[in-house]
Amino acid sequence: FGTGEEILRRQAQRESAARTYARSLPVVPVRARGMTVEGADGRRYLDCLSGAGTLALGHNHPVVLEAIRGVLDSGAPLHVLDLATPVKDEFTTALFETLPRELAEHGRIQFCGPAGTDAVEAAVKLTRAATGRAGLLAFSGAYHGMTAGALAATGDNFLRAMVGEADARVTRLPYPYDYRCPFGTGGDRGAELSARWTAHLLDDPKGGVQPPAAMLLEPVQGEGGVIPAPDAWMRRMREITAARGIPLIADEVQTGVGRTGTFWAVERSGVVPDVMVLSKAIGGSLPLAVIVYREELDVWQPGAHAGTFRGNQLAMAAGTATLRYVRRNALHERAEALGARMLGRLRGLAAHHACVGDVRGRGLMIGVELVDTEAEPDDYGALPAAPALAARVRHEALRRGLIVELGGRHAAVVRLLPPLTITDEQAEAVLERLGDAIEAAAG
Ligand code: PMP
Repeated sequence: FGTGEEILRRQAQRESAARTYARSLPVVPVRARGMTVEGADGRRYLDCLSGAGTLALGHNHPVVLEAIRGVLDSGAPLHVLDLATPVKDEFTTALFETLPRELAEHGRIQFCGPAGTDAVEAAVKLTRAATGRAGLLAFSGAYHGMTAGALAATGDNFLRAMVGEADARVTRLPYPYDYRCPFGTGGDRGAELSARWTAHLLDDPKGGVQPPAAMLLEPVQGEGGVIPAPDAWMRRMREITAARGIPLIADEVQTGVGRTGTFWAVERSGVVPDVMVLSKAIGGSLPLAVIVYREELDVWQPGAHAGTFRGNQLAMAAGTATLRYVRRNALHERAEALGARMLGRLRGLAAHHACVGDVRGRGLMIGVELVDTEAEPDDYGALPAAPALAARVRHEALRRGLIVELGGRHAAVVRLLPPLTITDEQAEAVLERLGDAIEAAAG
């Protein structure tokens, strides 16, 4: 297929100017296993992007390959619309075994898909149909996808401008971004103030917020810069929405399947949402997206949410294998323990590098925010973000054989999303390469 350079050049000529990862990561993957990706140039990389958080078991895990081969060899149809099949039945059973009890016992599932953004659309549509209301509460820094409805709830002004006029039905509230929090830092205190502000907006008849169809949130913002919501805030959002009959939608597209240290990120706070939006890891590397929701919300008439690709047999089989493997091996616990160790080490790194403004995360969803040490602190007392430095860190990391992507308000947060199967040695190599990359980029 030609050299890596040729492929990169040809694709850069032909592909849309909007291509994203390919622009920042000039890697041409030809083989991959676990956390290791091999480029066309023969170089090997440790992959800390994992398909933007998709690869809970890393690339081409044997149980995933076996599940896919199993379907291929069985003679089962690959395309089945949304018909019931044994593969779908197994997937649904495996998924329901992982859900919070209320949803596992009384929940409904709607296959969406194939991408996360489709499931977000479905969740918003469903709550609008169920409540007869149109408004949506979403949060600053949120990322929910690129289709018009999901994009309307996404916080990024640049991305939203791509659909033209803003969707007036969406009210955006501040997310409790502790490092740069308008309600003050300090975890629970900031969370409480943020919650009171939300309640005040909803109850003030002159506040301009009509009763919404739903509140949509990420338990840990991913693209927004790896920002974990405090448990207290999550619980207060649940109380506030429940008291006012507002369905709570948790977008667990990126946080799900063990990544944050519990199987689903909402488990940590004990919050049970009315709707969960699931994608990425549930398909075991293949496209799959679903919503699960309380049965009371199941107001849809037959055909109300149809689609051609509503049950990819290979993805469902790969997903079943992934869900079962994570559970059987308690990989969420491994994510919790190893994530805490990595956070500790990265905080040590921050102590030596003033340009590392904040290190945060949950489980194996970790963010390192880079700041401009030459500038004045912002209104919240933190130094401004340093996007150019972050881009240099990503570049230096890649030179050292480490794939990382950036996120955050200003693309100044280095995101670490290794597979949950990462070994201690690999974690050590990631920390070492990242430390060297920061040193090289800052120097
Ligand atoms: N929600 C969240 C929280 C996400 O992180 C993403 C993707 N990064 C999406 C939705 C959209 O998923 P997709 O890219 O598959 O459309």
